[in-house]
Order: sequence, then C-alpha cells, then structure tokens
Amino acid sequence: MSILPRCRDMTALITEDAEGALEGVSKVQFALHLSICTPCQRMREQLRTTAALLRTLPKQPEPPRASDVDAIMKRLAAAHGNEGDDEPD
Ligand SMILES: [Zn+2]
Repeated sequence: MSILPRCRDMTALITEDAEGALEGVSKVQFALHLSICTPCQRMREQLRTTAALLRTLPKQPEPPRASDVDAIMKRLAAAHGNEGDDEPD
C-alpha cells in the first residue's frame, strides 16, 4: 500500500491533474487525499476557477491596426445615419 501524498505535495498534483498529466497510482493517491482533505479540495476548486478564467482571456491580444481603425470609423459613420449623404473629401 502506498503512502498518500502530503498537502504540500498536492499543489503540484492538482496542477498535473488539471493538465491531464496524472495517471495510475499517482492519480489514485491524489483522489484519496482529496477525498479526506477539505483544504486541498478548496485549493483545487480555486485553481480550477482561476484556470477557467484564464482560458476565457484572449491568448494573444493584438493592438488594432491602422487599417482596421479606419474601417471601423467608416462603419461607425455609416451606422450613424450618414448613409446617402455626400462624403466629405
Ligand atoms: Zn491536503
């Protein structure tokens, strides 16, 4: 019979589990510890929530390009009810 991981070892195991990297005996030990340890259950929930929030963020926020800004400004102007009017040159 294996020894259960300690709480201080659980942080790494929780991360590995979240990444799907936990397998076999480690996974069983991890699950057993979680089932009897409320602080680690809470820590896992917090990490899950944080990970879920991080996943909602865009991976590579890009600054708008000048051409995009120009196109958006034209659309805004058109949507503003200026359609049909003569465009100022
Ligand atoms: Zn624990």
